[in-house]
Amino acid sequence: MGVKIAKNRVNEFLKYLKEEYILYAPVEENGVSKISKIEDTSDIINLPYRTQISLKPIFFPPEQKFFRFEKKNGGVEIEDYLPQEGDDKSIIFGVRGCDVNAIEVLDKYMLDEFEDPYYRKRRENAIIIGISCDYPKESCFCTAFGGMVPERYDLWFTDIGPHFYVDIGSKRGEKLIDDKFFEEASEEDEMRKIRRINSVETKINRKVKTNLHDIKKYYHKIKNRADDSIWEELGRKCVSCGKCNFICPTCHCFDVKDMTNIDGSAGERIRVWDSCHLYDYAKTSAENFREERKARVRYRIYDKFVFPVMRYGVYACTGCGRCSEVCPAGIDIHAVVRRLIK
Ligand code: SF4
Ligand code: SF4
Repeated sequence: MGVKIAKNRVNEFLKYLKEEYILYAPVEENGVSKISKIEDTSDIINLPYRTQISLKPIFFPPEQKFFRFEKKNGGVEIEDYLPQEGDDKSIIFGVRGCDVNAIEVLDKYMLDEFEDPYYRKRRENAIIIGISCDYPKESCFCTAFGGMVPERYDLWFTDIGPHFYVDIGSKRGEKLIDDKFFEEASEEDEMRKIRRINSVETKINRKVKTNLHDIKKYYHKIKNRADDSIWEELGRKCVSCGKCNFICPTCHCFDVKDMTNIDGSAGERIRVWDSCHLYDYAKTSAENFREERKARVRYRIYDKFVFPVMRYGVYACTGCGRCSEVCPAGIDIHAVVRRLIK
């Protein structure tokens, strides 16, 4: 059985957490909703669904400095920017299911075969407090991949009227449960939570009408459409701006640059986000192996629904719908997938 917290005590609870942790929560800045570091808990906004910007920049920022170097006394001095133990001990509050699932996908790329120590430090130090959505945004299709509540979280809040029902998903989550704020939930509260989640998922399903749960079946279907005319059609529409990559919570391509001063005696090594939609992405000294736009459009869709299934057994799309929302050419990934699995 879980616990519950009165809605009017949540702000106080977050203030209490902020005394020990760096707190991240949904805010609106210049008209854009995102999960940001909170200085004042009154800045937190109450959205019924996901933010426009995902959690990705918290763990995998658009620009990551690796180290600084300087030629000195006949040698080279190096200052590492790796976060220290205990840095960034954080609570991320108000995260939605699609974004928790997206971070699990990012973990595979960043922590599995090749470990990124910068990502690992931030990820290990972050406690996730998620919350069930009230209803989906127009572009959301998360239930195509499963339910609205992810398998892994530390705490999970669901609206049950004057309270949030709180599921405890980990030891770290359990440690945050203080009698000052939480009380034991009853069986009736638990039933309310289940009914609430079912009713929101039913609403989303009614809108989404896509079921990709059988990964093996759908990955094969999409893989077999490599020569389909859809790529030519989408290639003509796409303007190669890369917005879909940058906004996606699971896209993780990057470039590494050395930025030095004019005589090369000092500088920094920096990692920046890259995009497989950009013309230069596949350019090598010999050739550009994805010169045509249709090849780049296909590559991105395959890198969501085919390659990650072959490599890790998961899709690298969680149905957040952000790429469809920002695409200036009106390419809607949900509609593309529906055509591919027909
Ligand atoms: S591919 Fe599009 S819908 Fe899927 S996770 Fe990325 S941004 Fe969201
Ligand atoms: S956002 Fe749209 S137009 Fe831009 S690269 Fe992605 S699919 Fe192409």
